Amino acid sequence: MGVKSAPSEPAAATRIQRSVLVFGGSFDPVHNGHVALVQHFTMLLKVDEVRLVPAGQPWQKAGLKASAEQRIKMLELAFDGQLSVPYSIDQQEVERAATQIPSYTVDTLTNMRSQWGNAQLNEEIALILLIGADQFHNFATWKNWQQIFNLAHIVVAARPGYSLQLDTLPSEFAALWQQANGAIEDLKQCSFGKTWLETDLAWDISATRIRDELQQQGQTKETTSLIPRKVLDYLQVHHIYN
Ligand code: ATP
Repeated sequence: MGVKSAPSEPAAATRIQRSVLVFGGSFDPVHNGHVALVQHFTMLLKVDEVRLVPAGQPWQKAGLKASAEQRIKMLELAFDGQLSVPYSIDQQEVERAATQIPSYTVDTLTNMRSQWGNAQLNEEIALILLIGADQFHNFATWKNWQQIFNLAHIVVAARPGYSLQLDTLPSEFAALWQQANGAIEDLKQCSFGKTWLETDLAWDISATRIRDELQQQGQTKETTSLIPRKVLDYLQVHHIYN
């Protein structure tokens, strides 16, 4: 009797050689929630690499308090030694802003893909865009947001105060999201186009609140517990937010 061979992996499953987690933000300032999020998703999604992308001048936020240089320095201090995989601080949005070009996530992801040049390499690399639930709500206002589904997977971290219910979102976005939504394993099956919600998080921490408290009360017990120690020292030396 012939021995049945194990079913082979679907062709697409063998194509992904590397997963890259992309995490952008104002980081004004970077806080423990940011570090915890990246650590959480790095482990959960077993990514091979992380790219942190500080925003130039985010078009949906009023002026940033810390300079781009300071926000980059704070990111370096916050993530130093914190991740189990290689990571880099991708400065393309800051560089574009310096030449008065507005920064949009769709351009950032397109650029990353074009850096890898040929189509085959791009098929082998899964890009995973990580956003918080507040940005999930904003997503359908982003420039060419539909195209982002053709460049990266999108994962969303739950955040206190923001619903993850699709019926609270614009219908075109909700429909596309629903269509792309799958199991976490799907993110390893293809290089873009899948979505996933991490509903089990509830870290009540926000840069706006930290900034306001630092401005009004200086470094309190509360704020010092929310920011990495080395970042706190940097803030103090450079008198940022006071
Ligand atoms: P702000 O309070 O000014 O909106 P922030 O704390 O959201 O700032 P950002 O630098 O704007 O900080 O955030 C970068 C990314 O991290 C965004 O996608 C945001 O949704 C996500 N994020 C930040 N804090 C949390 C949190 N506590 N839970 C889940 N996602 C978060």
